Parts: sequence; structure tokens; C-alpha cells
Amino acid sequence: MNNRQYPVHLSIASSTEIEQTARQLKAAREEFLITGIPAQRSTRPMILESWQRCSAMQVSPLLRNAPLAITHEDQLRCLLEGSQLLLRAAHQVMKHLSDFLDGYVIVLSDANGCLLKVIGDTRTRRRLARIDFVPGGDWSEAAAGTNALGTAITDGHVVQLLGAEHYCEGWQDLTCTAAPIRHPLSGEILGTLDVTGNYHLIRPFLSSFIAAAALQVQQEIHELLPSADKGRTKTQSTSSRSSTRRMPASRSAIDRQRYQVDTSAVSMGNAAQAFMLMQEQRVRNAEFLTAVVSAISASLDLDDTLEKVAEQTAHLLRLDSVAVCLFGESEEIASLHTWTKQRVRRTKYQHDLEVLLRECKVVSLIQERGEPIIIDDTSTSVILSAGLASGIRSLLLLPLITARGVIGFILASKGTCYHWLVDDVLPVLTLATYAATAIENARHFTILQQHIRRVEVLNALSQLLSTLPDPAQHLEVVLKRIVEIMGLDVGMTLLCDQQRERLTLAAHYGLPETASLDLCAFALRSLYGVAHLILTTGKSVMTCAIERDEHSTCGPLTIPGSCDAMVVPLASGNTILGVLLLASLAHRKLTSEDLALFTAIGQQLGQTLTNIQLRQSANETEALREADQIKSRFVSAISHDLQSPLTAIQTSVESLLHHREAHSSHTQEHLLHNIAAQAGRLDSLVDRLLDLSRIEAGALSLDYDWIDLPIFIAETIAKFEELHSGCRVEQDLAENLPMLYVDPERIAQVLWNLLENASKYAPSNTSIQLEIRWTGNEVLVGIADRGPGIPAEDREKIFQHFYRLKRDQKKRIQGSGLGLAICQGIIQIHGGRIWVEERAGGGSVFRFSLPRHKTEPLDLEQLEKMELFAVSPEGK
Ligand code: ADP
Repeated sequence: MNNRQYPVHLSIASSTEIEQTARQLKAAREEFLITGIPAQRSTRPMILESWQRCSAMQVSPLLRNAPLAITHEDQLRCLLEGSQLLLRAAHQVMKHLSDFLDGYVIVLSDANGCLLKVIGDTRTRRRLARIDFVPGGDWSEAAAGTNALGTAITDGHVVQLLGAEHYCEGWQDLTCTAAPIRHPLSGEILGTLDVTGNYHLIRPFLSSFIAAAALQVQQEIHELLPSADKGRTKTQSTSSRSSTRRMPASRSAIDRQRYQVDTSAVSMGNAAQAFMLMQEQRVRNAEFLTAVVSAISASLDLDDTLEKVAEQTAHLLRLDSVAVCLFGESEEIASLHTWTKQRVRRTKYQHDLEVLLRECKVVSLIQERGEPIIIDDTSTSVILSAGLASGIRSLLLLPLITARGVIGFILASKGTCYHWLVDDVLPVLTLATYAATAIENARHFTILQQHIRRVEVLNALSQLLSTLPDPAQHLEVVLKRIVEIMGLDVGMTLLCDQQRERLTLAAHYGLPETASLDLCAFALRSLYGVAHLILTTGKSVMTCAIERDEHSTCGPLTIPGSCDAMVVPLASGNTILGVLLLASLAHRKLTSEDLALFTAIGQQLGQTLTNIQLRQSANETEALREADQIKSRFVSAISHDLQSPLTAIQTSVESLLHHREAHSSHTQEHLLHNIAAQAGRLDSLVDRLLDLSRIEAGALSLDYDWIDLPIFIAETIAKFEELHSGCRVEQDLAENLPMLYVDPERIAQVLWNLLENASKYAPSNTSIQLEIRWTGNEVLVGIADRGPGIPAEDREKIFQHFYRLKRDQKKRIQGSGLGLAICQGIIQIHGGRIWVEERAGGGSVFRFSLPRHKTEPLDLEQLEKMELFAVSPEGK
């Protein structure tokens, strides 16, 4: 449609928006004044045209007062006398407007833009008097630049202006809305009716409101015209209209009746009676309107509401067909809803209107101005460039105006030329005001519902994705859920390889059993093609048999056994991992909203799959890093542990070899002991390494036997204390400890290791506590010391291979970081656990658990009984 690129409404849904729009307009005007180049994005075309006219006429943008057209009171009197007809005709209408509109002034001007009358809000009148917005002031475009009444006279249409859309400096704080008043017979402009106030008071509905009031003035003029004048033939003009009461040939029966009422009353000369009849008529209209408004507000379904608006307008105007047209976000006609009395005529009517509205000025006039448009004869109308659409000869277009601007229009039409009356237009204009609100409510309700559905669907999916440990491994489950929540039948997930060249079918759901799954086979070739298109464009596509014209975004897409389909990218940011397809088995009305929702699902799933990939590669990197750390810890621990005994052995051996004679036999013995001790260290290190590699390989074999814990512990401690002189181990064993079935040597190794660590890391004068408790399932052993303790963050790490606390490395305490890792291996093979805790009062407690066996070892008495039992049958 026309002007798609222009922001044609003044967006003023809230006071903040008014401010914002006013600021934008100010910037646009300044840009225009400096560069002379139209600031197209924020300036309405009609404003630009007016600015250009003002600039060509050299109107000063700095003007702070409009010039006065008269300088003398006599001249004013003359002026008013010359416009008596207009003043008398406008009197009632202006009074009504000023009663109704708060804060505004109501203004009447003549055809030259010279003000005749200013009534309304006193404060505003005083403010306006300062810029000579008073009777006698010249507000033509040439004198006062772009202003609603001057511009309305120049371009002949309704004009509403806000703030800086006014060309001159002095009236930038105003909003004004003006409609030309035309001669009822000749169509020539006689003057304007205008409402002006502070720019905060701008209200879009005023455009159609003022247009209707101007029509009423025209009607009054017609009433006041001498009968001789009325006999003259009217010259039909463009969209502007006269309200002549002349009866066109095609007038309907009811119109005729109304006409007769009016004319008979007039012919009787009984003005009072005519007035009464008119009032009655108005009351009836008002009652009818109340019923109509209830009918159109009854539903929040957009289609229902549009149907009701069209139907009720048809009833009100006694027509057989009416349409409601809504604008989209970029001001194009987004929907055309037609109603015809006979359903069969709908398609033809729809087609006729589409032809009629294609590229015609009517639509942009409504969009830009919110002006009702009345065309008595389409064949002579200059604003219908598409020419005569078959079957439509006269039109009435009523803007649907909400707070955020013109959202569309109601289009009433007749198949014959018809002279629309003011009485036709006014009730239907009121209806349009209510209809706009009802449509807007229904629209918002639909958007809200779509939004709720979207949130619910995405929530359901994210819940599923969060419960699956690895959704990539469960694509079938995910796909099934998506198909279910979208209420469709078939789903397919196609993933592309690393080079993004080949697509493979990663999951499918609901496909008929006979369907081929080979993407290159003929049946799925079109899907393969569409999927590749999506990989390159990143755009979602849809084929929908029912809504094909409206919603199809790609050529035919055939999935065996299915009808309508949507295919969307599985995308994460700019990366497309594959495509997702949903299809229905029967024809379904897929909408662009469905496609948008499905696209969001594709993004959500794509993002999840990417996150998983990232997490996996992060885990792999972490594992590699850990392995690397272990390796370096191994190298540093082993090299030190191997080097120091080897160096000691080497030094001792060299000393014995080269200086044997110099050494006393005692020294020689000492050196030999040293060699033996260091060799022992090496031996134990190698043993530990071997143990560790056996544990890691799962090859540590255990030699199980029953142990009696108190005895076992007593023996181990005795040996330990013997070898570690000065070391005290206090025991605290629970009573009736059960027998344990373990590898005694390995468990002793664990105890030994923990006791050695306790003595190594705790101060030498402190004792070590060994405590044993038991439960029904396990035996718990704890070895507590008063050493420095283990920091919380290291309590798990010290069980890793070669892990040693930094503080001990710094203090050069000997150790390899293998002991605890081996302990853990041994305990785990026994089915137990090992860990370390902080000890109350300082130090650490190393604990391990060992499971109890269900059976206890048989004692001798039992064995004897069993033997007796075994031999008794034969012994009898
Ligand atoms: P090593 O003692 O040979 O270094 P371990 O595997 O037995 O190796 O112990 C690992 C690390 O745990 C030790 O280097 C030490 O830093 C810390 N550690 C072990 N036991 C104790 C303890 N009882 N008190 C304080 N720190 C300890």
C-alpha cells in the first residue's frame, strides 16, 4: 500500500508517547529547516508537502505572531457580515463542541484562513490571543505556515497537527485539528472548523469528530440556503462531500420514507414538528446504536468482532455488504473482513474491494488524516486511481481510531450511485469509535492468548529439556513432546554434519510406517531441498493448504502422508545445527503465529543442543587438564622420591668405594645401614606405585579372611608404636565388635598409612586416637590427630594420586601423595568408603567404613555340631 515507509500516525497512546513524538517532530523540523531535505522517516507526507510549500512561499519559520488580515474594527464587522451564512450554520455545532471538549478552543475560519469566531476555554483563548489567534487573524498557510486550518484549506482534507509539525516557531506548543467546510451544492471550500489546544491534549479521534462536525455545518448551510439556490445542479467534487437532501434515483424505500418525513414537515412549514421528528429519529438512532455497541463488544474473538462490526454497520446503513479493513504494523492493509447478506457473494465482494483499494489514495488519506471519506460515485472520483471496480458505485469509508492512531477503517458500499447523508454518516461514525475499541480489545486479547500459549509451550519444552541429562541422546522424546504441544501429528529432526553439507535424519515421530526415511529418495527430496534452503537463509518456512495464499512461505513441500508443514532452523545464535519439521496428517489452519512459535522452539532446542556440546567439550578439556596435572604431579613426586634415596645410596656407595680405608668400621656400618634404608624407601615407593597401578587396572586381588577387630587393632598398634618410638595411639573400641571378612594385610596397610600420616603431620607430643564403632550394616574406623587439619577445599583432593598440600611441599615434608589414593582404592574394593573430617578442637579425623557380612564365621562349637549332624544319619 501507499506510504508504507512513512510513520503515518502520530503515536500518542500515552502522555510519555506524546512527549516522545513531540521531541521526534522537533528534531525532524530542525533537520528540514537546516538541510531542506525531508526527514522522511519521522515526517508524515502531508506535513512535508506543507513545509515545502511554506519554504517556497518564504514563510518565516521564526514567526511568533500570525499577521492580522484586518486592521480596523469596521473591517472585522464587514468580514463577519460577509460570512453570515457560515457563522449562522456553524453556531450550534460550535456551541455543542465547546460544551463537549474541555481545554480546547473551537474556531471557525473563512475560505482564506481568516478567523471568524473563536470560542471555548478562556485560558487557551488568552494564550492564543498572544499569537493573534483571534477573529481577523490570518491563518492561511501563506501567512502562518503549516497549521491545521490553513493546511486544510490548501489541501482540502482533514488535518491534525502536533507541536513541531507547525512550521513557525510561535505555535509549536499546540495541537490543532481542522476540517474544511464545503458548499453543500458546489463543493467549494467555504471555510474551516478547527479545534486547538495545548499539544498534550492531542486525541486522534478528533479528526473524524471534526470532519463529522464540518459535515453538520454543511447540512445547516444547506438548510439555510434560499430554495432557489437549492434547485441548482450540484457539481460533485472529489472525496469532500455535500449533504444535499436532494433525492438520488436509487434511494432505498426507508430512505425515501425518511426523506418524505423531512420534506413533508418542511412543506407544512411546521418547523417545530420537523424538529420533533428529527429528535425522534435521533433518539431511535441512539437506541439502535446502544444495541449495536453491545453486539460488537460481546466477543473478544477478533474474527467474531470484525464480523459483528461489519454486520451491524450494514444494519445501521441498511446495506447488503460492508467490509472492515485493518492496517498492519507497517501501515499496509493487513486484513480485509467482508460481510454480505448473502454468503455466496462474499468472495466476489472481497475481490472487488481488493481491486478497488489497490494503490488508491483513499487508504493513505484515512491513514494520515483519520478522515472519513464519502464517495457518491466511484466512476467520477479522482481518489480512486484503480478505477471503477465492478459492482461498487458509491462508498463510505469510516476510520477506526484508537488512542494509538488509525488502526483501519469500515468500508460501506452500494452498487449504485448514492448520495450519503450526514444523518447516515454521524451514527456510523459513532459506531466506528466503539468498533475501534472493541477491535483493539479483541486484538489485544488475541495477542495475550498467543503470548500465554507461547510461554506455556516454551515452558513445557524447557521443563522436558531440563529433566533429560542429555537431550541430544533423546531427540525422539523431545520431538514427540514438541509434536504434542504444537497439536500436530508428524515431526522430524534433521541434523547437519560439521561441514554443514550433509543432513541426516536424527529423529522422527508419527511418520506412517510405510514412509521412506531416505532423505535422498524421491519422497523426501523436496524436504531435503527446503532444509538446505533453511540452512543457507536461516528462515522458517510453511506450507499450508488451507491458508495457502495467506501464510505459505515456500513452494510445495511434500512429506508422505501429511498435508501442511512447517520447517524451522535448529539455531543457536547465528549457527544452524539442522532443521526441525512439523506436519499434520489432515489439513490444518496453520498461522504465522504457529510458525513464529515453532521458530522459537527451534531456537530453544538449538540453544540447548549447543549448550550440551559446549559443556561436553568443556568437560573433556577439564578431564585433559586434570590428567595433565596428575602427570606433572606424578613426575615431580616421583623424580624427587626417586632422586633423594638414589643420591643418598650413591654418596654412601662412593664413600665406601673410594675412602674405605679412611672410614672406621662403625662408619662403614652406618653407611651400609643408610644404603639399606634408602633402598627400602625405594622398594616401598615401587610397591606403592605397583599397588596403585593394580588398583587402577582393577587387578588388585584380595586375600579374604575373618578378622577379630580388637585383636587385629591391638597387634597393628603394637607394631606401629614399636617402630615409631614416642608415638602414642589411644584406642576407643565399641563393645561386641562384629567379625569382619576382609583382606587383613590390606586393611592393616590402610591403618598403617593413616597412623603414619597422623604421626607425620601432627606435632610429636600429641597422641593419636583410634576409634571403632559399628552399626547393623558397617563398621566405622576413625583415626584422629591434633595436626594442622585439612582445608575444606582439599578434603576430597587429597585422595587423588600424587596430591599433596602445598604447605607440606613447602616445608619439604617427605611424601609422595600416593598413600591416601591407595587407601581409597583398598577400601573401595572392600565395598567401603573413606573420607576426612575436621576434628573439633583442631586436627583431622580420617574415617573409613567397611561393610559387615550377613553371615558370621562359624565357631568351633557350631562346626562340631555340623559335623555331628553330617555324620549322624550314617552313624545310626
Ligand atoms: P603423603 O603423605 O605421602 O604426601 P598421602 O596420600 O598419604 O601422601 O597424603 C596426601 C597429602 O595429604 C599429604 O601430602 C598431606 O599434605 C595431607 N595429609 C595426609 N594426612 C594428613 C594429616 N593427618 N594431617 C594433615 N595433612 C595430611
